[in-house]
Amino acid sequence: MSIVRFLVLFTIAMSGIGLAPAQATIRAGNVGVPIATCVRPATPGLDAGTLLRTPSGFDCTTPQRAFGPGDYWVISQNLQLDSNGQRLGVRVASVWQTRMTLYALYADGVRAKIVTDARGATRNLQLGAIIENALPDRPVTLTRLLWHVEGSAAVRGIVLAPTVATERESAASNIVMAAIYAAFGGMCLALLLYNLGLAHALRHPFLPYYCAMMAGMLIYAFSSSGALAWVMPEVSNNDRLRLNYVLLAMTGVAATLFLRHFFEAGVIPRWLARGTDIASVALAVPTLAVVLLAPWQFRAFDLAYATGFALLICTAIPMMVCAWLKRSQFLWLFVIAWTAPIGLAVLRIGHGLNLVGYNFWIDNSTIVSMVFEALLSSLAIAYRILLITRERDAAKAQEIAARMLADADPLTGLMNRRSFLREAIGRADAQQLLLLDIDHFKRVNDTIGHDGGDEVLRLVARALRTGLRPSSLLARIGGEEFAIVTPLTDAIDPEELLATLRASRMPFDLTVTASIGMARGTLAREADWKTLYCAADLALFEAKRSGRDRSRDASNAAPRGRAAA
Ligand code: GH3
Ligand code: MG
Ligand code: MG
Repeated sequence: MSIVRFLVLFTIAMSGIGLAPAQATIRAGNVGVPIATCVRPATPGLDAGTLLRTPSGFDCTTPQRAFGPGDYWVISQNLQLDSNGQRLGVRVASVWQTRMTLYALYADGVRAKIVTDARGATRNLQLGAIIENALPDRPVTLTRLLWHVEGSAAVRGIVLAPTVATERESAASNIVMAAIYAAFGGMCLALLLYNLGLAHALRHPFLPYYCAMMAGMLIYAFSSSGALAWVMPEVSNNDRLRLNYVLLAMTGVAATLFLRHFFEAGVIPRWLARGTDIASVALAVPTLAVVLLAPWQFRAFDLAYATGFALLICTAIPMMVCAWLKRSQFLWLFVIAWTAPIGLAVLRIGHGLNLVGYNFWIDNSTIVSMVFEALLSSLAIAYRILLITRERDAAKAQEIAARMLADADPLTGLMNRRSFLREAIGRADAQQLLLLDIDHFKRVNDTIGHDGGDEVLRLVARALRTGLRPSSLLARIGGEEFAIVTPLTDAIDPEELLATLRASRMPFDLTVTASIGMARGTLAREADWKTLYCAADLALFEAKRSGRDRSRDASNAAPRGRAAA
Protein backbone atom coordinates (compact mmCIF):
# COMPACT_ATOMS: atom_id res chain seq x y z
CA MET A 1 0.00 0.00 0.00
CA SER A 2 1.38 3.38 -0.90
CA ILE A 3 2.10 5.81 1.92
CA VAL A 4 -0.49 8.24 0.55
CA ARG A 5 -3.25 5.62 0.62
CA PHE A 6 -2.23 4.55 4.10
CA LEU A 7 -2.37 8.15 5.32
CA VAL A 8 -5.76 8.75 3.75
CA LEU A 9 -7.24 5.60 5.32
CA PHE A 10 -5.63 6.45 8.66
CA THR A 11 -7.15 9.94 8.51
CA ILE A 12 -10.59 8.57 7.84
CA ALA A 13 -10.20 6.06 10.67
CA MET A 14 -9.04 8.74 13.09
CA SER A 15 -11.85 11.09 12.09
CA GLY A 16 -14.22 8.20 12.66
CA ILE A 17 -13.28 8.07 16.34
CA GLY A 18 -14.68 11.53 16.76
CA LEU A 19 -17.80 10.70 14.84
CA ALA A 20 -18.59 7.39 16.54
CA PRO A 21 -21.64 7.25 18.81
CA ALA A 22 -19.38 6.76 21.78
CA GLN A 23 -21.85 5.68 24.48
CA ALA A 24 -22.57 2.46 22.68
CA THR A 25 -19.18 0.88 22.33
CA ILE A 26 -16.04 2.82 23.19
CA ARG A 27 -16.24 3.67 26.85
CA ALA A 28 -12.64 3.73 28.00
CA GLY A 29 -13.16 7.10 29.67
CA ASN A 30 -16.39 7.18 31.57
CA VAL A 31 -16.96 3.56 32.49
CA GLY A 32 -19.88 2.17 34.49
CA VAL A 33 -23.67 2.34 34.34
CA PRO A 34 -24.94 5.58 32.76
CA ILE A 35 -27.41 7.41 34.99
CA ALA A 36 -30.31 9.48 33.65
CA THR A 37 -30.94 12.66 35.64
CA CYS A 38 -33.54 15.38 36.25
CA VAL A 39 -32.86 18.94 37.44
CA ARG A 40 -34.49 21.59 39.58
CA PRO A 41 -33.10 24.95 40.57
CA ALA A 42 -32.12 25.17 44.23
CA THR A 43 -34.62 27.32 46.02
CA PRO A 44 -34.62 28.05 49.75
CA GLY A 45 -36.36 25.53 51.95
CA LEU A 46 -35.46 22.43 49.94
CA ASP A 47 -33.51 19.69 51.66
CA ALA A 48 -31.99 16.43 50.50
CA GLY A 49 -34.14 14.23 52.77
CA THR A 50 -37.42 15.55 51.37
CA LEU A 51 -36.22 15.49 47.76
CA LEU A 52 -34.98 11.90 48.04
CA ARG A 53 -38.19 10.75 49.73
CA THR A 54 -40.59 12.54 47.40
CA PRO A 55 -38.80 13.77 44.28
CA SER A 56 -41.00 16.49 42.85
CA GLY A 57 -40.59 19.58 40.72
CA PHE A 58 -37.72 18.10 38.73
CA ASP A 59 -37.37 18.83 35.03
CA CYS A 60 -36.38 15.70 33.12
CA THR A 61 -36.60 17.06 29.58
CA THR A 62 -34.78 20.40 29.38
CA PRO A 63 -31.07 19.89 28.57
CA GLN A 64 -28.91 20.80 31.57
CA ARG A 65 -26.96 23.49 29.78
CA ALA A 66 -30.16 25.36 29.03
CA PHE A 67 -30.60 26.18 32.72
CA GLY A 68 -27.94 28.86 33.02
CA PRO A 69 -25.50 29.43 35.86
CA GLY A 70 -26.67 28.95 39.46
CA ASP A 71 -27.33 26.37 42.21
CA TYR A 72 -29.20 23.18 41.36
CA TRP A 73 -30.50 19.88 42.63
CA VAL A 74 -29.93 16.99 40.25
CA ILE A 75 -31.60 13.67 40.96
CA SER A 76 -30.98 10.29 39.38
CA GLN A 77 -33.55 7.86 38.11
CA ASN A 78 -34.54 5.08 40.47
CA LEU A 79 -31.53 2.79 40.69
CA GLN A 80 -31.18 -0.83 41.77
CA LEU A 81 -27.41 -1.14 41.89
CA ASP A 82 -25.80 -3.90 43.93
CA SER A 83 -22.18 -3.56 44.82
CA ASN A 84 -21.54 -7.32 44.57
CA GLY A 85 -18.76 -7.04 47.09
CA GLN A 86 -17.08 -4.16 45.29
CA ARG A 87 -16.93 -0.58 46.32
CA LEU A 88 -18.90 1.71 44.00
CA GLY A 89 -17.97 5.16 42.76
CA VAL A 90 -20.04 7.91 41.17
CA ARG A 91 -18.28 9.40 38.13
CA VAL A 92 -19.13 12.69 36.43
CA ALA A 93 -17.32 14.67 33.75
CA SER A 94 -15.36 17.57 35.20
CA VAL A 95 -17.22 20.89 34.84
CA TRP A 96 -17.04 24.29 36.49
CA GLN A 97 -18.71 24.45 39.94
CA THR A 98 -17.99 25.81 43.39
CA ARG A 99 -19.26 22.90 45.46
CA MET A 100 -20.98 19.61 44.90
CA THR A 101 -22.75 17.60 47.60
CA LEU A 102 -23.60 14.05 46.64
CA TYR A 103 -26.30 12.10 48.51
CA ALA A 104 -26.59 8.36 48.01
CA LEU A 105 -29.76 6.62 49.17
CA TYR A 106 -29.67 2.90 49.99
CA ALA A 107 -32.46 0.32 50.08
CA ASP A 108 -32.26 0.18 53.90
CA GLY A 109 -33.07 3.92 54.09
CA VAL A 110 -29.52 4.94 54.99
CA ARG A 111 -28.34 8.13 53.30
CA ALA A 112 -24.64 8.88 52.63
CA LYS A 113 -23.40 12.41 52.04
CA ILE A 114 -20.17 13.43 50.30
CA VAL A 115 -19.18 17.09 49.96
CA THR A 116 -16.63 18.19 47.34
CA ASP A 117 -15.46 21.71 46.64
CA ALA A 118 -13.37 22.68 43.58
CA ARG A 119 -10.19 21.62 45.38
CA GLY A 120 -11.77 18.35 46.48
CA ALA A 121 -12.77 17.77 42.86
CA THR A 122 -9.08 17.92 41.91
CA ARG A 123 -8.26 15.21 44.44
CA ASN A 124 -11.04 13.03 43.02
CA LEU A 125 -10.07 13.56 39.41
CA GLN A 126 -9.44 10.43 37.35
CA LEU A 127 -7.58 10.24 34.05
CA GLY A 128 -9.84 11.48 31.27
CA ALA A 129 -10.97 14.39 33.49
CA ILE A 130 -13.66 12.41 35.30
CA ILE A 131 -14.45 13.32 38.90
CA GLU A 132 -15.13 10.23 40.93
CA ASN A 133 -16.70 10.15 44.40
CA ALA A 134 -16.21 6.82 46.13
CA LEU A 135 -19.38 5.68 47.90
CA PRO A 136 -19.21 4.06 51.35
CA ASP A 137 -18.38 0.37 51.32
CA ARG A 138 -21.93 -0.94 52.01
CA PRO A 139 -23.32 -4.31 50.91
CA VAL A 140 -26.76 -2.75 50.38
CA THR A 141 -28.55 -1.89 47.11
CA LEU A 142 -28.06 1.69 45.97
CA THR A 143 -31.47 3.14 45.06
CA ARG A 144 -30.96 6.81 44.23
CA LEU A 145 -28.40 9.58 43.84
CA LEU A 146 -28.97 13.26 44.48
CA TRP A 147 -26.52 16.06 43.80
CA HIS A 148 -26.66 19.54 45.20
CA VAL A 149 -24.48 21.64 42.91
CA GLU A 150 -23.52 25.16 43.96
CA GLY A 151 -22.01 27.72 41.62
CA SER A 152 -22.54 25.68 38.48
CA ALA A 153 -21.54 27.48 35.30
CA ALA A 154 -23.84 25.09 33.39
CA VAL A 155 -21.77 25.59 30.27
CA ARG A 156 -21.61 21.94 29.24
CA GLY A 157 -23.99 20.69 31.91
CA ILE A 158 -24.61 20.68 35.65
CA VAL A 159 -23.96 17.02 36.47
CA LEU A 160 -22.43 15.89 33.22
CA ALA A 161 -22.63 12.29 31.97
CA PRO A 162 -22.86 10.59 35.40
CA THR A 163 -22.14 6.88 35.75
CA VAL A 164 -21.76 4.45 38.64
CA ALA A 165 -18.74 2.22 38.30
CA THR A 166 -17.03 -0.38 40.43
CA GLU A 167 -13.55 0.16 41.80
CA ARG A 168 -12.22 -2.34 39.31
CA GLU A 169 -13.87 -0.60 36.32
CA SER A 170 -12.49 2.71 37.48
CA ALA A 171 -8.96 1.32 37.87
CA ALA A 172 -9.17 -0.31 34.43
CA SER A 173 -10.29 2.98 32.91
CA ASN A 174 -7.34 4.76 34.49
CA ILE A 175 -4.95 2.19 33.08
CA VAL A 176 -6.41 2.48 29.56
CA MET A 177 -6.40 6.27 29.71
CA ALA A 178 -2.86 6.29 31.14
CA ALA A 179 -1.73 4.14 28.22
CA ILE A 180 -3.42 6.45 25.70
CA TYR A 181 -2.06 9.63 27.27
CA ALA A 182 1.39 8.12 27.79
CA ALA A 183 1.48 7.21 24.10
CA PHE A 184 0.39 10.74 23.17
CA GLY A 185 2.78 12.32 25.64
CA GLY A 186 5.70 10.18 24.50
CA MET A 187 5.03 10.97 20.88
CA CYS A 188 4.62 14.69 21.60
CA LEU A 189 7.87 14.71 23.53
CA ALA A 190 9.74 12.81 20.81
CA LEU A 191 8.39 15.12 18.08
CA LEU A 192 9.17 18.16 20.19
CA LEU A 193 12.78 17.16 20.84
CA TYR A 194 13.35 16.06 17.26
CA ASN A 195 11.97 19.33 15.87
CA LEU A 196 13.85 21.42 18.44
CA GLY A 197 17.00 19.81 17.06
CA LEU A 198 15.88 20.59 13.51
CA ALA A 199 14.97 24.17 14.48
CA HIS A 200 18.45 24.64 15.89
CA ALA A 201 20.18 23.09 12.87
CA LEU A 202 18.04 24.39 9.99
CA ARG A 203 16.62 27.66 11.32
CA HIS A 204 13.48 27.43 9.19
CA PRO A 205 10.90 29.97 10.37
CA PHE A 206 8.11 27.38 10.73
CA LEU A 207 10.02 25.07 13.09
CA PRO A 208 9.80 27.22 16.26
CA TYR A 209 6.01 27.44 15.74
CA TYR A 210 5.83 23.70 15.35
CA CYS A 211 7.79 23.28 18.60
CA ALA A 212 5.49 25.77 20.36
CA MET A 213 2.50 23.79 19.09
CA MET A 214 3.99 20.52 20.37
CA ALA A 215 4.87 22.03 23.75
CA GLY A 216 1.35 23.46 24.05
CA MET A 217 -0.13 20.12 23.12
CA LEU A 218 2.03 18.28 25.61
CA ILE A 219 1.07 20.54 28.49
CA TYR A 220 -2.58 20.63 27.38
CA ALA A 221 -2.69 16.82 27.35
CA PHE A 222 -1.10 16.81 30.80
CA SER A 223 -3.64 19.28 32.17
CA SER A 224 -6.81 18.26 30.36
CA SER A 225 -6.29 14.56 31.03
CA GLY A 226 -6.33 15.21 34.75
CA ALA A 227 -2.71 14.04 35.14
CA LEU A 228 -1.86 17.53 36.39
CA ALA A 229 -4.34 17.04 39.22
CA TRP A 230 -2.48 13.91 40.30
CA VAL A 231 0.80 15.81 40.43
CA MET A 232 -0.63 19.00 41.97
CA PRO A 233 -3.72 18.00 43.98
CA GLU A 234 -3.86 21.40 45.69
CA VAL A 235 -4.76 23.21 42.43
CA SER A 236 -8.48 24.00 42.21
CA ASN A 237 -10.27 22.10 39.46
CA ASN A 238 -11.72 25.38 38.20
CA ASP A 239 -8.20 26.79 37.81
CA ARG A 240 -7.24 23.67 35.91
CA LEU A 241 -10.20 24.33 33.57
CA ARG A 242 -8.98 27.93 33.10
CA LEU A 243 -5.53 26.59 32.25
CA ASN A 244 -7.05 24.22 29.67
CA TYR A 245 -8.63 27.18 27.89
CA VAL A 246 -5.28 28.96 27.73
CA LEU A 247 -3.26 25.95 26.63
CA LEU A 248 -5.69 24.92 23.93
CA ALA A 249 -5.84 28.46 22.56
CA MET A 250 -2.05 28.75 22.56
CA THR A 251 -1.72 25.43 20.77
CA GLY A 252 -4.31 26.50 18.18
CA VAL A 253 -2.54 29.81 17.53
CA ALA A 254 0.87 28.09 17.28
CA ALA A 255 -0.58 25.52 14.85
CA THR A 256 -1.99 28.29 12.66
CA LEU A 257 1.30 30.21 12.70
CA PHE A 258 3.11 27.01 11.80
CA LEU A 259 0.81 26.44 8.84
CA ARG A 260 1.17 30.06 7.79
CA HIS A 261 4.97 29.83 7.70
CA PHE A 262 5.28 26.33 6.37
CA PHE A 263 4.54 26.82 2.69
CA GLU A 264 6.97 28.36 0.24
CA ALA A 265 7.50 32.12 0.47
CA GLY A 266 4.70 34.07 -1.19
CA VAL A 267 2.11 31.30 -0.94
CA ILE A 268 0.12 32.90 1.89
CA PRO A 269 -1.03 36.38 0.82
CA ARG A 270 -0.84 39.28 3.23
CA TRP A 271 -4.61 39.60 3.68
CA LEU A 272 -4.81 35.98 4.79
CA ALA A 273 -1.91 36.39 7.21
CA ARG A 274 -3.78 39.37 8.61
CA GLY A 275 -6.90 37.18 8.80
CA THR A 276 -5.09 34.63 10.97
CA ASP A 277 -3.93 37.47 13.23
CA ILE A 278 -7.51 38.64 13.64
CA ALA A 279 -8.73 35.09 14.33
CA SER A 280 -5.94 34.69 16.92
CA VAL A 281 -7.05 37.86 18.67
CA ALA A 282 -10.67 36.71 18.44
CA LEU A 283 -9.60 33.60 20.33
CA ALA A 284 -7.26 35.35 22.76
CA VAL A 285 -9.89 37.81 24.02
CA PRO A 286 -12.43 35.23 25.31
CA THR A 287 -9.53 33.10 26.59
CA LEU A 288 -8.33 36.01 28.72
CA ALA A 289 -11.90 36.74 29.75
CA VAL A 290 -12.38 33.15 30.96
CA VAL A 291 -9.09 33.25 32.85
CA LEU A 292 -9.76 36.58 34.54
CA LEU A 293 -13.54 36.74 34.88
CA ALA A 294 -14.95 33.18 35.08
CA PRO A 295 -17.51 32.22 36.17
CA TRP A 296 -18.89 35.68 35.27
CA GLN A 297 -20.48 35.47 31.80
CA PHE A 298 -18.84 32.08 31.42
CA ARG A 299 -21.32 30.82 28.84
CA ALA A 300 -20.93 33.91 26.67
CA PHE A 301 -17.15 33.72 26.81
CA ASP A 302 -17.21 29.99 26.14
CA LEU A 303 -19.35 30.64 23.07
CA ALA A 304 -16.97 33.39 21.94
CA TYR A 305 -14.08 30.99 22.56
CA ALA A 306 -15.68 28.31 20.37
CA THR A 307 -16.36 30.93 17.70
CA GLY A 308 -12.76 32.23 17.89
CA PHE A 309 -11.51 28.68 17.52
CA ALA A 310 -13.84 28.13 14.57
CA LEU A 311 -12.45 31.26 12.91
CA LEU A 312 -8.88 30.16 13.54
CA ILE A 313 -9.48 26.68 12.17
CA CYS A 314 -11.32 28.19 9.20
CA THR A 315 -8.18 30.11 8.19
CA ALA A 316 -6.54 26.75 7.50
CA ILE A 317 -8.93 26.22 4.59
CA PRO A 318 -8.04 29.39 2.56
CA MET A 319 -4.37 28.75 3.40
CA MET A 320 -4.64 25.34 1.80
CA VAL A 321 -6.55 26.80 -1.14
CA CYS A 322 -3.74 29.35 -1.64
CA ALA A 323 -1.20 26.56 -1.45
CA TRP A 324 -3.20 24.72 -4.09
CA LEU A 325 -3.47 27.76 -6.37
CA LYS A 326 0.24 28.50 -6.01
CA ARG A 327 1.06 24.83 -6.66
CA SER A 328 2.83 24.28 -3.35
CA GLN A 329 4.72 21.01 -3.22
CA PHE A 330 3.71 20.42 0.38
CA LEU A 331 -0.05 20.73 0.05
CA TRP A 332 -1.04 17.08 -0.21
CA LEU A 333 0.53 16.15 3.12
CA PHE A 334 -1.14 19.09 4.78
CA VAL A 335 -4.56 18.25 3.46
CA ILE A 336 -4.20 14.82 5.03
CA ALA A 337 -2.73 16.19 8.26
CA TRP A 338 -5.46 18.77 8.79
CA THR A 339 -8.51 16.77 7.75
CA ALA A 340 -8.89 15.02 11.11
CA PRO A 341 -8.28 18.15 13.26
CA ILE A 342 -10.68 20.22 11.19
CA GLY A 343 -13.35 17.50 11.23
CA LEU A 344 -13.02 17.00 14.97
CA ALA A 345 -12.82 20.72 15.67
CA VAL A 346 -16.07 21.18 13.78
CA LEU A 347 -17.65 18.55 16.06
CA ARG A 348 -16.23 20.18 19.17
CA ILE A 349 -17.31 23.60 18.04
CA GLY A 350 -20.72 22.08 17.28
CA HIS A 351 -20.70 20.86 20.87
CA GLY A 352 -19.63 24.31 22.08
CA LEU A 353 -22.50 25.84 20.10
CA ASN A 354 -24.93 23.27 21.59
CA LEU A 355 -25.45 21.56 18.25
CA VAL A 356 -23.77 18.27 19.23
CA GLY A 357 -24.30 16.56 22.62
CA TYR A 358 -21.59 15.69 25.16
CA ASN A 359 -19.51 12.75 24.14
CA PHE A 360 -16.45 11.59 26.05
CA TRP A 361 -14.53 11.01 22.85
CA ILE A 362 -15.42 14.34 21.30
CA ASP A 363 -14.33 15.96 24.56
CA ASN A 364 -11.00 14.15 24.43
CA SER A 365 -10.57 13.84 20.67
CA THR A 366 -8.80 17.18 20.47
CA ILE A 367 -5.70 15.45 21.74
CA VAL A 368 -6.09 12.55 19.32
CA SER A 369 -6.52 14.86 16.36
CA MET A 370 -3.76 17.22 17.45
CA VAL A 371 -1.26 14.43 17.90
CA PHE A 372 -2.32 13.01 14.57
CA GLU A 373 -1.86 16.43 12.99
CA ALA A 374 1.49 16.85 14.72
CA LEU A 375 2.71 13.50 13.50
CA LEU A 376 1.74 14.19 9.90
CA SER A 377 3.06 17.73 10.08
CA SER A 378 6.33 16.27 11.23
CA LEU A 379 6.25 14.01 8.18
CA ALA A 380 5.52 17.10 6.09
CA ILE A 381 8.55 18.77 7.66
CA ALA A 382 10.65 15.71 6.86
CA TYR A 383 9.34 15.84 3.28
CA ARG A 384 10.12 19.52 3.04
CA ILE A 385 13.61 18.95 4.38
CA LEU A 386 14.06 16.16 1.85
CA LEU A 387 13.21 18.59 -0.96
CA ILE A 388 15.50 21.24 0.51
CA THR A 389 18.29 18.68 0.79
CA ARG A 390 17.78 17.65 -2.82
CA GLU A 391 17.90 21.28 -3.94
CA ARG A 392 21.04 21.83 -1.89
CA ASP A 393 22.71 18.68 -3.28
CA ALA A 394 21.88 19.75 -6.84
CA ALA A 395 23.28 23.24 -6.16
CA LYS A 396 26.41 21.71 -4.65
CA ALA A 397 26.87 19.40 -7.65
CA GLN A 398 26.45 22.39 -9.96
CA GLU A 399 28.96 24.36 -7.96
CA ILE A 400 31.44 21.48 -8.07
CA ALA A 401 30.94 21.17 -11.86
CA ALA A 402 31.41 24.92 -12.28
CA ARG A 403 34.54 24.86 -10.15
CA MET A 404 35.92 21.91 -12.08
CA LEU A 405 35.27 23.75 -15.32
CA ALA A 406 37.02 26.83 -13.98
CA ASP A 407 39.96 24.77 -12.76
CA ALA A 408 40.42 22.51 -15.78
CA ASP A 409 42.09 23.01 -19.11
CA PRO A 410 39.26 22.45 -21.59
CA LEU A 411 41.46 20.87 -24.28
CA THR A 412 43.25 18.20 -22.24
CA GLY A 413 41.15 18.02 -19.06
CA LEU A 414 44.32 18.57 -17.02
CA MET A 415 44.54 21.24 -14.33
CA ASN A 416 45.06 24.73 -15.65
CA ARG A 417 47.80 27.03 -14.43
CA ARG A 418 45.58 28.72 -11.80
CA SER A 419 44.41 25.57 -10.05
CA PHE A 420 47.85 24.00 -10.40
CA LEU A 421 49.45 26.91 -8.55
CA ARG A 422 46.70 26.88 -5.90
CA GLU A 423 47.37 23.20 -5.21
CA ALA A 424 51.16 23.29 -5.56
CA ILE A 425 51.96 26.31 -3.42
CA GLY A 426 51.96 25.33 0.21
CA ARG A 427 53.82 22.04 -0.20
CA ALA A 428 56.48 22.65 2.43
CA ASP A 429 58.47 19.44 1.96
CA ALA A 430 61.00 19.05 -0.88
CA GLN A 431 59.39 18.84 -4.31
CA GLN A 432 60.48 18.01 -7.83
CA LEU A 433 59.27 20.32 -10.61
CA LEU A 434 59.35 19.14 -14.22
CA LEU A 435 58.66 21.58 -17.06
CA LEU A 436 57.96 19.76 -20.33
CA ASP A 437 57.78 21.54 -23.67
CA ILE A 438 56.93 19.79 -26.94
CA ASP A 439 59.69 20.10 -29.50
CA HIS A 440 59.02 21.99 -32.73
CA PHE A 441 55.33 22.10 -32.09
CA LYS A 442 54.89 24.83 -34.62
CA ARG A 443 55.99 22.31 -37.22
CA VAL A 444 53.40 19.84 -35.96
CA ASN A 445 50.73 22.42 -36.49
CA ASP A 446 52.12 23.25 -39.88
CA THR A 447 52.20 19.59 -40.90
CA ILE A 448 48.85 18.26 -39.67
CA GLY A 449 46.92 21.45 -39.03
CA HIS A 450 45.77 23.10 -35.84
CA ASP A 451 43.18 20.44 -35.09
CA GLY A 452 45.80 17.77 -35.49
CA GLY A 453 48.01 19.80 -33.14
CA ASP A 454 45.20 19.79 -30.61
CA GLU A 455 44.91 16.04 -30.86
CA VAL A 456 48.65 15.74 -30.28
CA LEU A 457 48.29 17.92 -27.16
CA ARG A 458 45.53 15.60 -25.88
CA LEU A 459 47.63 12.49 -26.55
CA VAL A 460 50.66 14.00 -24.85
CA ALA A 461 48.48 14.84 -21.84
CA ARG A 462 47.20 11.26 -21.73
CA ALA A 463 50.76 9.87 -21.95
CA LEU A 464 51.93 12.11 -19.10
CA ARG A 465 48.95 11.10 -16.96
CA THR A 466 49.72 7.37 -17.19
CA GLY A 467 52.98 7.48 -15.32
CA LEU A 468 51.76 9.86 -12.65
CA ARG A 469 51.93 9.22 -8.86
CA PRO A 470 48.85 9.95 -6.72
CA SER A 471 50.85 12.65 -4.94
CA SER A 472 51.78 14.37 -8.24
CA LEU A 473 50.14 17.38 -9.82
CA LEU A 474 50.03 17.69 -13.61
CA ALA A 475 48.94 20.79 -15.52
CA ARG A 476 49.04 22.35 -18.94
CA ILE A 477 50.49 25.72 -18.07
CA GLY A 478 51.00 27.11 -21.57
CA GLY A 479 50.33 26.32 -25.25
CA GLU A 480 52.46 23.18 -25.52
CA GLU A 481 54.06 23.40 -22.11
CA PHE A 482 53.24 21.09 -19.21
CA ALA A 483 54.29 21.10 -15.54
CA ILE A 484 54.51 18.30 -13.01
CA VAL A 485 55.06 18.77 -9.28
CA THR A 486 55.73 15.74 -7.18
CA PRO A 487 57.25 15.15 -3.70
CA LEU A 488 60.93 14.34 -3.91
CA THR A 489 60.28 11.11 -2.05
CA ASP A 490 58.09 10.14 -5.03
CA ALA A 491 60.40 11.58 -7.68
CA ILE A 492 59.77 10.89 -11.37
CA ASP A 493 62.56 9.92 -13.74
CA PRO A 494 62.31 12.44 -16.65
CA GLU A 495 63.96 10.01 -19.05
CA GLU A 496 61.16 7.52 -18.40
CA LEU A 497 58.65 10.23 -19.17
CA LEU A 498 60.39 11.05 -22.45
CA ALA A 499 60.50 7.37 -23.34
CA THR A 500 56.75 7.04 -22.71
CA LEU A 501 56.13 10.02 -24.95
CA ARG A 502 58.29 8.67 -27.71
CA ALA A 503 56.42 5.37 -27.55
CA SER A 504 52.97 7.05 -27.74
CA ARG A 505 51.16 6.68 -31.04
CA MET A 506 50.45 10.01 -32.66
CA PRO A 507 48.24 11.02 -35.60
CA PHE A 508 49.77 10.11 -39.00
CA ASP A 509 52.47 8.19 -37.06
CA LEU A 510 54.10 11.46 -36.31
CA THR A 511 57.06 11.30 -33.97
CA VAL A 512 56.54 13.76 -31.18
CA THR A 513 59.29 14.48 -28.68
CA ALA A 514 59.67 16.93 -25.86
CA SER A 515 62.32 18.52 -23.70
CA ILE A 516 62.25 18.59 -19.91
CA GLY A 517 63.78 20.97 -17.41
CA MET A 518 63.88 19.76 -13.81
CA ALA A 519 64.47 21.52 -10.49
CA ARG A 520 64.10 20.62 -6.79
CA GLY A 521 63.08 22.69 -3.82
CA THR A 522 60.17 23.54 -1.50
CA LEU A 523 56.98 25.32 -2.54
CA ALA A 524 55.85 26.74 0.78
CA ARG A 525 55.24 30.24 -0.60
CA GLU A 526 54.71 31.90 -3.95
CA ALA A 527 58.29 33.17 -3.93
CA ASP A 528 59.48 29.54 -3.74
CA TRP A 529 57.45 28.79 -6.85
CA LYS A 530 59.08 31.62 -8.75
CA THR A 531 62.56 30.45 -7.77
CA LEU A 532 61.83 26.84 -8.63
CA TYR A 533 60.12 27.74 -11.91
CA CYS A 534 63.05 29.90 -13.04
CA ALA A 535 65.49 27.11 -12.27
CA ALA A 536 63.42 24.50 -14.16
CA ASP A 537 62.87 26.89 -17.06
CA LEU A 538 66.59 27.46 -17.34
CA ALA A 539 67.14 23.72 -17.35
CA LEU A 540 64.48 23.37 -20.08
CA PHE A 541 66.20 26.02 -22.14
CA GLU A 542 69.41 24.11 -21.71
CA ALA A 543 67.69 20.89 -22.87
CA LYS A 544 66.40 22.68 -26.00
CA ARG A 545 69.75 24.19 -26.64
CA SER A 546 71.48 20.86 -26.30
CA GLY A 547 69.40 19.37 -29.14
CA ARG A 548 65.89 18.73 -27.69
CA ASP A 549 64.30 15.33 -26.82
CA ARG A 550 66.22 15.24 -23.56
CA SER A 551 66.04 16.42 -19.97
CA ARG A 552 68.24 18.68 -17.95
CA ASP A 553 68.60 19.02 -14.18
CA ALA A 554 68.73 22.59 -12.86
CA SER A 555 71.51 21.67 -10.47
CA ASN A 556 73.70 20.89 -13.55
CA ALA A 557 72.34 23.54 -15.92
CA ALA A 558 74.25 26.63 -16.99
CA PRO A 559 73.14 29.78 -15.13
CA ARG A 560 71.64 31.67 -18.07
CA GLY A 561 68.52 31.94 -20.24
CA ARG A 562 64.95 33.17 -20.11
CA ALA A 563 62.93 33.39 -16.92
CA ALA A 564 59.34 34.51 -16.45
CA ALA A 565 57.35 32.67 -13.86
P1 GH3 B 1 60.46 24.62 -29.53
O1 GH3 B 1 60.92 23.25 -29.84
O2 GH3 B 1 61.55 25.59 -29.43
O3 GH3 B 1 59.58 24.64 -28.30
O4 GH3 B 1 59.59 25.02 -30.77
P2 GH3 B 1 58.06 25.19 -30.82
O5 GH3 B 1 57.65 25.35 -32.21
O6 GH3 B 1 57.41 24.09 -30.10
O7 GH3 B 1 57.79 26.48 -29.97
P3 GH3 B 1 57.11 27.86 -30.24
O8 GH3 B 1 56.94 28.54 -28.85
O9 GH3 B 1 57.91 28.63 -31.23
O10 GH3 B 1 55.71 27.52 -30.83
C1 GH3 B 1 54.64 26.99 -30.05
C2 GH3 B 1 53.49 26.79 -30.93
O11 GH3 B 1 52.45 26.11 -30.29
C3 GH3 B 1 52.91 28.09 -31.42
C4 GH3 B 1 51.44 27.95 -31.35
O12 GH3 B 1 50.79 28.13 -32.55
C5 GH3 B 1 51.28 26.52 -30.94
N1 GH3 B 1 50.17 26.39 -30.00
C6 GH3 B 1 50.04 27.03 -28.81
N2 GH3 B 1 48.86 26.65 -28.22
C7 GH3 B 1 48.25 25.76 -29.06
C8 GH3 B 1 47.05 25.03 -29.03
O13 GH3 B 1 46.26 25.10 -28.09
N3 GH3 B 1 46.76 24.22 -30.08
C9 GH3 B 1 47.58 24.09 -31.13
N4 GH3 B 1 47.25 23.30 -32.13
N5 GH3 B 1 48.73 24.78 -31.22
C10 GH3 B 1 49.07 25.60 -30.19
MG1 MG C 1 57.78 23.91 -28.01
MG1 MG D 1 56.80 26.58 -25.82
